[in-house]
Amino acid sequence: MLSAWASWRVCEHRSVANRMNYSVLELWILLMRSEPRCYQLPTFCVVLVMLLASSGQVARAAEPEGAAKHVIVIGVDGLAPFGISSANTPALDRLCEQGASTMHARAVMPTSSSSNWASMIMGAGPEQHGITSNEWERNRFEIAPVVKGSEGIYPTMFSAVRKGLPTSAIGVFHDWGGFGRLVESESCDLVVDADGPVDAIDRSTEFWNSRNPSLLFIHLDHVDHAGHAEGWGSPDYVQAVQLADRLINQVVTVVEKTGHKSDTVVIVTSDHGGVDKGHGGSTMAEIEIPWIAWGAGIRTGVELKKPVNTYDTAATVLRLLDVPAPACWVGRPVTEALSQSKQSEDDAAPSEPVAVE
Ligand SMILES: [Zn+2]
Repeated sequence: MLSAWASWRVCEHRSVANRMNYSVLELWILLMRSEPRCYQLPTFCVVLVMLLASSGQVARAAEPEGAAKHVIVIGVDGLAPFGISSANTPALDRLCEQGASTMHARAVMPTSSSSNWASMIMGAGPEQHGITSNEWERNRFEIAPVVKGSEGIYPTMFSAVRKGLPTSAIGVFHDWGGFGRLVESESCDLVVDADGPVDAIDRSTEFWNSRNPSLLFIHLDHVDHAGHAEGWGSPDYVQAVQLADRLINQVVTVVEKTGHKSDTVVIVTSDHGGVDKGHGGSTMAEIEIPWIAWGAGIRTGVELKKPVNTYDTAATVLRLLDVPAPACWVGRPVTEALSQSKQSEDDAAPSEPVAVE
C-alpha cells in the first residue's frame, strides 16, 4: 500500500522535478531503494521539503538579471535623425554604441507635436486616443478617445505605471506647456512645466536624486524652437541639438554617479522631425524620428532593423518595468532592443520584416 502510494508520488513529482531539479529526485529514488520501508514516509517528507526549497532557488535563479527598476524617457521636440548626424553628439553616439537604436523610427500622422507626444505616451495612434492636432483640448476634440481612463483621457504609461507599481515615484518635466494636458497629473507625483531646457534637466535630476523614480519623463523644447525660427538643419538648429546632447549627458551621468546604471534604462526619442521651418506634413524628413534605448535589459551595439513606431515606446517602458499594458493599446514592446530576459513567449514575430525601398 505504502509502496503504491510512493510510486504515485514519484509520477506526480517527476513532472515537477523535470521543471525544477533532477538531482533531488534522483536522491529521493536512491533513498527509497536503499532504506527499509518503515523510513519511507519520513524520508518522503524530508525530500519534499528539499524539493520545495530547491523550487525556491530555481525561481530566484530564473529572475532576469539586470532588470530595469527605473526608466527615463527623454523626448527632444523636433529632433530629426539628420539633426543628429549633422551635429557633434558624443552622448547620443555613446548611447547608440552601448545600446539599441534606429534613426528610422516613425512618428504618426499628422506630424504635429500633440498627436505625437500623445501617441508616444499612450501606446496608440490618433485614431484611438483622438488627439489629432495641437488644437486638441480635453474639452475640445474632433474624435473622442475609444477608451477614457482617469481624467477622461486615453490611458497613458503614467497611469499604467501608477496602477502596476502603486508606491513608485513618477515625475514629468516638460518644457512645452501643452505637454501637461496629455498627462494624468493625478497619476504622477510631480508634473512640472519647466522654464527652458536647462531648468527641465536640473529639476528632473533633483527629482531623480530625491525620489529615485520608477518612471521619469523629460521633455525638451528648444530644438523645435530653433527649427521653427531658423529652419531644420540650420546652424542654430545644429547648435540646439548639441545642447540637447550635453543635457542628455547630464542625465546619464547622474544615473551612473548614483549607482543606477545596472537597473535603469534611458530612452531618447522625438515627436517629429521637420522641413524648412515647420512640420505637420507628410514628408520623410518630418515623420522619421530617432529611437535610442540604453541600459539594463537593453541589448548593446544593436542597430534596430525591424519597424519601430512612436506608440511602441510606451509599451516598451511597461515591459521594462514589468507592468501590464492597458488592453486598449496598439503599441508593442520593441523586443528587438530587449535582452533575452525581457523577451516574452508572446513576442514571436508573425513574419520577417519586408524591406521597403
Ligand atoms: Zn513637436
